[in-house]
Amino acid sequence: MKQRQKIAVICPYCGVGCGLYLNVDDGRIAGIEYLEQHPLTSGALCAKANAVLEFIHHPARVVCPLKKRNGGWQEISWEEALDTVATKLMEMIDGYGPDAVGFIASSKCTNEENYALAKLARLLGTNNIDNSARLCHAPTLTSLVPMLGSGAMTNPITDLANSQCILIVGSNLAENHPIISRYIFEAKEKGAKIIVVDPRFTPTAWMADIFLQLKPGTDVALINGMIYTIIKANLLNYDFITSRTEGFDQLRQIVSSYTPERVSRITGVTSEAFEEAATIFATAGASAIIYCMGVTQHTRGSDNVTSLANLALICGQIGRQGAGIFPLRGQNNVQGACDMGALPDYFPGYIPVDKTPVNAKLAQHWKMKELPSKPGLTMVEMINAAAEGKLKALYIVGEEVVISNPNSDHVCKALQQLEFLVVQDIFLTETAKLADVVLPGACWAEKEGTFTNTERRVQWTNLAVRPIREAKADWEIISQIGDKLGLELSYSCVEEILREINEVVPSYHGITPERIKQDVAGLFWPCPSEEHPGTPILHINSFATSNGKAKMVPVEYMPLFELTDDEYPLILTTGRMGLHYNSGSLTRRARSLTRAVHELYVEIHPSDASKYDIQPDSRVSIGTKRGEIAAKVVITERILPGVVFVPFHFPGVNRLTSDTMDSRAKIPELKVTGCKIKKIA
Ligand code: SF4
Repeated sequence: MKQRQKIAVICPYCGVGCGLYLNVDDGRIAGIEYLEQHPLTSGALCAKANAVLEFIHHPARVVCPLKKRNGGWQEISWEEALDTVATKLMEMIDGYGPDAVGFIASSKCTNEENYALAKLARLLGTNNIDNSARLCHAPTLTSLVPMLGSGAMTNPITDLANSQCILIVGSNLAENHPIISRYIFEAKEKGAKIIVVDPRFTPTAWMADIFLQLKPGTDVALINGMIYTIIKANLLNYDFITSRTEGFDQLRQIVSSYTPERVSRITGVTSEAFEEAATIFATAGASAIIYCMGVTQHTRGSDNVTSLANLALICGQIGRQGAGIFPLRGQNNVQGACDMGALPDYFPGYIPVDKTPVNAKLAQHWKMKELPSKPGLTMVEMINAAAEGKLKALYIVGEEVVISNPNSDHVCKALQQLEFLVVQDIFLTETAKLADVVLPGACWAEKEGTFTNTERRVQWTNLAVRPIREAKADWEIISQIGDKLGLELSYSCVEEILREINEVVPSYHGITPERIKQDVAGLFWPCPSEEHPGTPILHINSFATSNGKAKMVPVEYMPLFELTDDEYPLILTTGRMGLHYNSGSLTRRARSLTRAVHELYVEIHPSDASKYDIQPDSRVSIGTKRGEIAAKVVITERILPGVVFVPFHFPGVNRLTSDTMDSRAKIPELKVTGCKIKKIA
């Protein structure tokens, strides 16, 4: 008689953080079951999650530690692997100083694992640590923290059902965060107006009452144009502006030059369309703004987020039911990895690394004389430092850096320059192939801990099955490396790490192991005490800034860094699709997903197709200043003339993109680059 267990886990993919059950028969996963009591999803899952079992026991899993020897891989013991990693890290630090070493954390790992890695970096004396938020939502932090005091989603996802207007900018959530669509439809059924802003007519645009198809990279001009309209029509929320904000006069002055004619010329959107959108947004009883990587993945990503926050503030559309700002995180723990201090400029709990009195408390907690106080290098900066020979060793946990970073030929060369590269992952990814040592991590179903989803909801995920062969949970590996290095980083269980997080991170004080394991609904941070119910809506009475007021920050529209020229006459933009996930290292191993989409394609407008004599399903090469790749052609009017789109889940796409960065958030320009296409015979 088989012993069946139903284990509640959190989906390992996007930032929505849906819950599901794994059915386990005698220690083997037998299937999934819907977790109907989940507060956000009521059991629903998207296509990716329905195929989630396919990678757990995939034959390509790394099942024991590996060391590169004579160009091949040799299986080694854990003892040898841990010794090698500890010795090499110390050698580099002794020879070149602590800042010659860097760490890349994973937004797919638990909070406890990210906390342990963030602490390891600091115990070794460096702030060179970053996570994939750098490639998606770094501008959310750099813009919203100074403006609102917090760089996180302000309201729960379910609250979208209470909005009377939803402005969706640069987000194809119908494909990429599909569970959220239900709350948008619910709002729409109650009469809400949906405004979608995107250079592509995506499935999300099908929901729109007003669709604004702007030219890529012109978001600031469009939003400033909407603010101009609202000011001119006197639709401002004066009470809110005077009592709760600062900086309106400067904003009014800057946007005064964003006349409808000028904005229409820059964005390609008719003035009637964006004026109507602005009026609806300002006059609705509760308006929400949703945005994603179409806004952030630009050299002007911070300015884009800033202008959206300005729009919410002048209308008082924040800090109430149905009114707020909703940045959608792409991975299931981007929010948590940042909360835990896997960032070069913040310790856990967003304590700036250069804030001395506060840091003395943390140093005492971590039993250190002092913490490193110089901001570390971001992910792209670490890669550049490796290429220049300044960074000597890199420890990468669960990130497919080679596929997900821009200018990937340069990334490969940089990683090859390192004196020591250790990669901890579940597959021999393109990044792991370049490593000196590969450590086999447990996959999400083989470990437990907490994830923090895109709406700040902290949820416990259970261990369903033991790790495959010799794989170990990432926290355990990090803890054992800490042990080898003689550091105060020895943990015996996940609960012990979470209890330390409770002490170190104020907004997680009340999120104890005992509480979080009990409640499938999780808890929203800030949760400052064990009696506190959590905080679903932020900024209700005051903002988290030093004086409690939000700060408007005027921004000017600036053209993007690399647009078209005679040699590269088309704009290349990249994005996601429903059936694949980020670098594709998980979903390209799920047969049911790859059966549907298994190769790279490029969307081209019919007018460009006829200009270049390209037929549907033919193949073209796409070239930029950095490289060239081949793709199958899809001819569609979803895209604007002069723009081509490729999904970024396939190797090679980021050979094309640029690593020029936003000066504040240091996010690279992944969304727009000049390109040329050529028919392949
Ligand atoms: Fe998983 Fe996101 Fe799909 Fe939910 S919406 S099932 S979290 S991939």
